[in-house]
Amino acid sequence: MIAQIIFIAALSLAAYFIARRVLLIKKTIQLGRSENRTDQPAERLKTMLLVAFGQKKMFTRPVVGALHALVYVGFVIINIEVLEILIDGIFGTHRIFFQPLGNVYAFLINFFEFLALGVIIACSVFLVRRHILRVERLQPARHKEMKAWPALDATIILFIEIVLMWAFLSMNATDVILQERAVGHYGEAVTGDFLISGLLKPVFDSWSDHSLVAYERAAWWFHILGIMSFALYVTYSKHLHIALAFPNTYFADLTPKGEMKNMPTVTKEVKIMLGLEQADAPASETPERFGAKDVKDLSWKNLMDAYSCTECGRCTSSCPANITGKELSPRKIMMDTRDRLEDIQKGWLKNGYDYDDGKTLLGDYIKDEELLACTTCNACVQECPVMISPLDIILQLRRYRVMEESQAPQSWNMMFQNLETNMAPWKFSPDERFNWANDLK
Ligand code: SF4
Ligand code: SF4
Repeated sequence: MIAQIIFIAALSLAAYFIARRVLLIKKTIQLGRSENRTDQPAERLKTMLLVAFGQKKMFTRPVVGALHALVYVGFVIINIEVLEILIDGIFGTHRIFFQPLGNVYAFLINFFEFLALGVIIACSVFLVRRHILRVERLQPARHKEMKAWPALDATIILFIEIVLMWAFLSMNATDVILQERAVGHYGEAVTGDFLISGLLKPVFDSWSDHSLVAYERAAWWFHILGIMSFALYVTYSKHLHIALAFPNTYFADLTPKGEMKNMPTVTKEVKIMLGLEQADAPASETPERFGAKDVKDLSWKNLMDAYSCTECGRCTSSCPANITGKELSPRKIMMDTRDRLEDIQKGWLKNGYDYDDGKTLLGDYIKDEELLACTTCNACVQECPVMISPLDIILQLRRYRVMEESQAPQSWNMMFQNLETNMAPWKFSPDERFNWANDLK
């Protein structure tokens, strides 16, 4: 009975803290300005099923894609087994599904065990890639945004997944030995050997009943408490993408990548200048601010992007600015945006929701040098496995610097002036545009 009370208390505490954190993240995302992303529901559903559920973009790098899919599928499906642990924990039963499921039960546990082994292998490979093979895009020495917490976060998660899977397999091995010895209530559900944990039985065969019960209970508690802690930890980690990849791909930008999001007011001005529209045409709504200075000026989808970023670095490894040694890393743009949101949250929790720390995304987190290095090539958008657009944030910050603060480099100002006076980026007047053809016959 005491064990049941402790279990229910732990479950309630975990549910409370997870719900609190989720609501806080939701409130933070809602800081962003509104943007309608509910058009084309069928296309959006298809995109989500292919990219988030089917992990389509991960398979552009097939080996890593397959390993990632194994971890993902394994972790999600094995957690079906958690349902049994939850019921056993609340009602004090032992393997509650064994009797009603009969032979299907053994089949399911065997399937879960194969997936658990797959997760252990895949996570071990990921640790080797990160720490021994030292894949370039994940190295803190080369990418400053990967120093300290981000590097540790990835390692912690991989390690936790391995330990949780080991707890699951060794728990089954000791449980089956206790069933065979008919110790206490273990004898009530004789499942027979499972395929993977059966291989571990020789390790535990010589143990006394007392030690086996202690280990089995410890593994059981560790497994379930580990999963509860993992679920809470994920809300503070880049691994939040496990959940957010779904809404993030559903609400992804479906317009062609090269299409710029022009501002209607500015477009109207340009059209009037070019004689394509009358000056008395209905005015477009003038925005409060041109571009974005802080996260509140970005859209809610930009902010959800920041929370969905997996920090995989595929964007950065294909960014021409980064490859050629410029200051820009699109991954850092997303991580900075998330850091800014997290700092705002900390301010709220400490000083109330009206608190303003006086900082801004542009300037305190992201520097001009990074923004100016972007070629707007869209490679980062193309590469992202969860359809994030670092470019959209870069463009909005850059737009603010240029349009609100007139802080463009001198060479850009000359180009802007030429566009205004010559209707082309060059310094020649429109009348001289065909001079190059004068000597042609
Ligand atoms: S759009 Fe900008 S940030 Fe993205 S890959 Fe190209 S240069 Fe890099
Ligand atoms: S923006 Fe996309 S590609 Fe870049 S690190 Fe984040 S998840 Fe990876």
